Amino acid sequence: MKKNFLGNKWFFEDFLEVEDSASTWGFEIKKEVLSLKSKFQKIEIFDTKEFGRVLVLDGIVQLSTKNEFVYHEMLVHPSMFYHAKPKRVLIIGGGDGMALREVLKHPVDEVFLVDIDSKVIEVSKRYFKSDFSDKRVKIFNEDALAFVRQYKNYFDVIITDLTDPTPVAKFCWNRIFYSDVLNALTDNGVASFQSGSLNEPFAMKIRKDLSNIFKYFKTHRAFIESFPFSEYTFSFGSKRVNLDKVNVKNMFRGFDLKYYSPEIHYASGVMPKFFSAK
Ligand code: SAM
Repeated sequence: MKKNFLGNKWFFEDFLEVEDSASTWGFEIKKEVLSLKSKFQKIEIFDTKEFGRVLVLDGIVQLSTKNEFVYHEMLVHPSMFYHAKPKRVLIIGGGDGMALREVLKHPVDEVFLVDIDSKVIEVSKRYFKSDFSDKRVKIFNEDALAFVRQYKNYFDVIITDLTDPTPVAKFCWNRIFYSDVLNALTDNGVASFQSGSLNEPFAMKIRKDLSNIFKYFKTHRAFIESFPFSEYTFSFGSKRVNLDKVNVKNMFRGFDLKYYSPEIHYASGVMPKFFSAK
């Protein structure tokens, strides 16, 4: 017998920029863990029937404990391997602490994390057991827009784990910001960006802009069950490193990850025919 979901509590995601959207995406809630308004955004945490614990910011799903490892491994490790020996890393956004967890699997000297909203960090410590206590980590609660501009030729890897263009993040999704990221990288530096689903119009624009800023540009994809539309994309850029030529296979020694492997690295870099960065 089919269950009528209307009688139960469901969450439905707001589709950005899709005013006349004829579809939606949602999941059944077991328990509403938290709902508050910080100075910058609405923060909600749900325990769900299918995806475990879910973090939602301004109506957009950020992660689910069931499959966040796929997203965070794909966002972080390709860039760390593309660089080969990253010592100074910047995480932009990422207040849930999960990209940070992946970065710290590498022998880095220093990790800066800049998230505008200290409340996201606070609730992630409490409800997702995220750990920010490593001595190499420095947290800044500032707007990434002004923060990144202060650095030139400094970071080996920059990981951009920002919310989609919601009100608080929207000024970081443009060519000016991408150029600031490029300038903050060392010559052999590599930047990584969460870059939306394959076929979302705003994500197509993001990838097009990024590919115009970075001389070397590459997209990888992975299916993240708790994100709507289609496969999710992770975009990588560098001034000097030809990403297609790096032999990432050699870097995996000592790394035992749950999703990302040499085979996944190469397979995830193959795009469908309709996909075009330019
Ligand atoms: N996995 C995510 C996704 O799918 O979009 C991103 C996760 S992470 C929680 C996004 C973080 O970006 C949030 O904690 C938010 O506070 C931060 N953020 C948004 N706008 C920002 C800005 N202008 N400067 C710094 N951090 C920002």
